[in-house]
Amino acid sequence: MVAGVDIGGTTTQVALCGEDLNVLDRLEVPTPAAAGGAAMVGAALDGVRQLLGRTPGRLLGVGVGAAGVVDARAGRILVASDSFLGWAGFAVTTAVEEALGVPAFLDNDVNAFLRGEAAAGAVAGEPHVLGMTLGTGVGGALWLDGALYDGPHGAAGEIGHVPGFGDLPCTCGGRGHLETLASGRSIAARYGERTGRTVTARAVAEAAVGGDPDALAVYEGAGAAVARAILVTAGLLDVTTFVIGGGVTGAWAFVEPAIERTLTAEPPVSGHPVRVLPALLGGDAVAIGAAARALTELRRAGPA
Ligand SMILES: [Zn+2]
Repeated sequence: MVAGVDIGGTTTQVALCGEDLNVLDRLEVPTPAAAGGAAMVGAALDGVRQLLGRTPGRLLGVGVGAAGVVDARAGRILVASDSFLGWAGFAVTTAVEEALGVPAFLDNDVNAFLRGEAAAGAVAGEPHVLGMTLGTGVGGALWLDGALYDGPHGAAGEIGHVPGFGDLPCTCGGRGHLETLASGRSIAARYGERTGRTVTARAVAEAAVGGDPDALAVYEGAGAAVARAILVTAGLLDVTTFVIGGGVTGAWAFVEPAIERTLTAEPPVSGHPVRVLPALLGGDAVAIGAAARALTELRRAGPA
């Protein structure tokens, strides 16, 4: 069996998976994000050991998905957000391998999300997929010819931060990025601009359920922007399957019709229909995707 670990800003999910990625057991622990890289990985390792203590079987490897910019080949965090102290530069896979004595692998969390959905979720078995996460920010990842394509700098698929989506300032320092219209933070901000009210993205979703025209307009804008990102991807790469996850998909009933309206009005140049699917694995996607990476790498390396 393999372990998949999802180190998020507030919680760390740990799942123990069998050879077909079935989850044998799972648990969740708080992420000690202010206590440094060793403490964060230590909390995850404690979780893995706890699961191993109550599940029969032999651990063959560990996959870790983490937020931020990572070096997936060296297994190291490159850039982390301000909420993580002592995380940038931390050698995650070395720490895990030394502690558990099995091979370990590291992925960016959005890449791990797509690995999970492509291995055992909404787009299982699909050879070509763009994955998007509409969460606090907007993440993207690309699956080509049945494998993750992360590009020469590990940044392929970052659809949340390409220009062409208006002129609003983005959290990354750029302007007019998809994230300025389609992230949870942006949905709250755009609603605030229309109404003068400071609310959370969840409150905007509740307002939309109640028929609030400003909330509906904000989701219409977000969905239209996501559709444009889909059309850009379909035109550039001939990828026509899309999986969308993240907290904003809690308002899928409002986002999806807006996506479909734009796609109907401007079909992709290939003439092939576009499929847009909500993610299936929910909060398990990153941990399962990290486990999938470990399984793939172990199989590539051959029997131990
Ligand atoms: Zn940006």
